[in-house]
Amino acid sequence: MPQLHPRLEAIFDEVIHTNPGEAEFHQAVFEVFESLGPVVEKHPEYVDAEIIRRLCEPERQLIFRVPWVDDAGRVQVNRGFRVEFNSALGPYKGGLRFHPSVYLGIMKFLGFEQIFKNALTSLPIGGAKGGSDFDPKGRSEAEVMRFCQSFMTELYRHLGEYTDVPAGDIGVGSREIGYLFGQYKRITNRYESGVLTGKGYAYGGSLVRTEATGYGTVFFVNEILRSKGDDFAGKRVVVSGSGNVAIFAIEKVHQLGGKVVACSDSSGYIVDENGIDLELVKDIKLEKRGRIKDYVDTVKSAKYVAGGSIWDVQCDIALPCATQNEVDEADANSLIKSGAIIVAEGANMPCTPEAIRAFTQAGVVYAPGKAVNAGGVATSALEMQQNASRDSWSFEYTEARLSEIMKNIHETCVETADEYGLKDNIYSDGANIAGFNKVASAMLALGVI
Ligand code: GLU
Repeated sequence: MPQLHPRLEAIFDEVIHTNPGEAEFHQAVFEVFESLGPVVEKHPEYVDAEIIRRLCEPERQLIFRVPWVDDAGRVQVNRGFRVEFNSALGPYKGGLRFHPSVYLGIMKFLGFEQIFKNALTSLPIGGAKGGSDFDPKGRSEAEVMRFCQSFMTELYRHLGEYTDVPAGDIGVGSREIGYLFGQYKRITNRYESGVLTGKGYAYGGSLVRTEATGYGTVFFVNEILRSKGDDFAGKRVVVSGSGNVAIFAIEKVHQLGGKVVACSDSSGYIVDENGIDLELVKDIKLEKRGRIKDYVDTVKSAKYVAGGSIWDVQCDIALPCATQNEVDEADANSLIKSGAIIVAEGANMPCTPEAIRAFTQAGVVYAPGKAVNAGGVATSALEMQQNASRDSWSFEYTEARLSEIMKNIHETCVETADEYGLKDNIYSDGANIAGFNKVASAMLALGVI
């Protein structure tokens, strides 16, 4: 394990001690702390004012019961969460995740990452995350609606367009946001559009929000390629996952001339040497809510591998777009051996620390989720802007704004790494330091709160 700056070591010990058993949260904090040594030297005032210790303690953590009745008439109970981590830059902002793996440690890691990600967008949004251990898989439409209504019946009192603005994440898409918004509106008797983002276009959503995380991921990689005088033309790309992020990452790679040859779900992966037929994937995953293995029923020349690792598939560019810690050291070594040049995270924290170290040692460009996938939340902030002005922008205009934001985040990472004389982990150190500095300077200005 690499050494931390001595002033950060004591704070990290305290984080472990006060948040026992929350491995993913510890991992996310450590990853940021690894980058902050030079900042502690340059800005001792941040440590003196205990900015870092304060940052590691969420401003508010909500845990609540979500009771609901299933189609068989049985009462079900799930646990709901909202971790309102930091509001120095704006209202709490971040998605809701509905997945059986959700517990406080996952919420805190995601909320912590969200603070820096949101700061990097340069838009006025604080950091938060929420969700539930509810598993939408196999649940009927009516069950999902009842669950969402019960979840919002507790959460609504903590939300508001100037207070806390949730959106989607794994297991929460426009269907769930619709039910959540409907219940919020009913309980509060307010048409407060800006209280949730990722809404349907018919009732205050923004064009491009659905595509934004995937598109933004590819825009960021395009900037990396451009900085090397290269582009996507002819690049072989592997994208893990087949949810919202993966689908629109594939779409943008294809638009820019690359070829995605593999994608996956939690049961296995498909390889299609002719390039993934995205309309088919959209039909299977978005329309039918089916499994990725159904792809080979239509495309006979493609192959399905149950279980296994998608990272065994040779590629130039790897885009992990599924979930946390999906790329381990062995996967990293396969990617390095197969000649990958860039690994960019569409998901949140998909690479383990060992995998990241392997990429760095091998000279593979590694770009972290908090920079790469920031396009999703950035477009949420654009949705908030449209809601605040009761306006709605065209697809072209909104996509151009997104593209500009991703370009700026890339530039910020490079310039920050340059300013601090860093060469090995330009994107992870650059993103952590730039995001941190924005939040820290605001926290310092706001006093001890
Ligand atoms: N869940 C997404 C993320 O990880 C989007 C959050 C949002 O739009 O508020 O950034």
